[in-house]
Amino acid sequence: MGGLISPDGAYCLACGKKRGALEGLPLCPDCARGLLISARPKGFLCPRCLSALLPGKPCRFCARDEGRLIGQTYAPFRYRGTPRSLVLRLKFGGDTRAAAVLAPFLLKALTGRDYDALVPVPLSAARMRERGYNQAMELSQLVGWQAGIKTEELLRRDRSTKRQTDMHTFRDRKRNVQDAFSLKAGADVRGRRLLLVDDVRTTGSTALSCAETLVRAGAARVDLLAVCIAPGLARGRQKSLRGRFRPRREG
Ligand SMILES: [Zn+2]
Ligand SMILES: [Zn+2]
Repeated sequence: MGGLISPDGAYCLACGKKRGALEGLPLCPDCARGLLISARPKGFLCPRCLSALLPGKPCRFCARDEGRLIGQTYAPFRYRGTPRSLVLRLKFGGDTRAAAVLAPFLLKALTGRDYDALVPVPLSAARMRERGYNQAMELSQLVGWQAGIKTEELLRRDRSTKRQTDMHTFRDRKRNVQDAFSLKAGADVRGRRLLLVDDVRTTGSTALSCAETLVRAGAARVDLLAVCIAPGLARGRQKSLRGRFRPRREG
C-alpha cells in the first residue's frame, strides 16, 4: 500500500519499531508497559496544577497564575517516555490513533465532571491547514464522548504564533501567546463551567492566555485537562524529535 504509517498498526505508535502481537493496542509490549508505568504519579505534585514541588517551597506555576485563571489542572502523565512519544506522534506524525490510546488515561485523570463544555485549545488557521487536524480537538472529542460532555470550539487563535516548543523561557512563551486568542463570533461563555483541553502544558502560557480570554468573557470557571505536564524543555530538543515522528513510509 505504501503511504503513511501502516493502517494495520504493524508499527508501534510510540517507538516506531515493528511491534510484537498485542491485541487492540497499536503499541509494542515495552511501550504499553511504559504507558501504564508512566500513569502512576511520583514525587510531590502541586494538588492544584500538578507541577512538581520541592518540599516546603510554594508552587512556582501557581505563583505565575496570579489571577487564579485556571482552577484545577488534570493530567495523567509527565512529558517523557511513551506518553511523550504518543503526543509527538499525534502532533507531528499525522496519526490520530495516538489520541485514542491516550484518551482513556485522560478520562481516568478527569476526576471532576461537572463541566458545561470541553474547549480544545485552537490552532491558528495556518497551522490547521498544515496539519489537517487539531490534536487538542481529537483528544477533546474522544474524552467528551466518554464523559458525556460536549466539545465546543469557543476560541480562535488570531495571531499565528511561533511554536511554543521553539520558545524557551516563560517570558518568551507568555509574550508569544499574549492576546493570541479571542472568543469565536457568537460564542457565549457567561456563567459556564469550561474545561480547556490541550496536549502538553509546558510553562502554561497558552492555557493561561486561553483561560484569560474565557474568564474575561464571563466564564464561571476554567479548568485544564492536558495529556502531559512538561517540567521544561531543553533547547532544541523538540525540533529534533519532530523529525523523528514524521510519518513513516513503508517499503
Ligand atoms: Zn514501542
Ligand atoms: Zn501549583
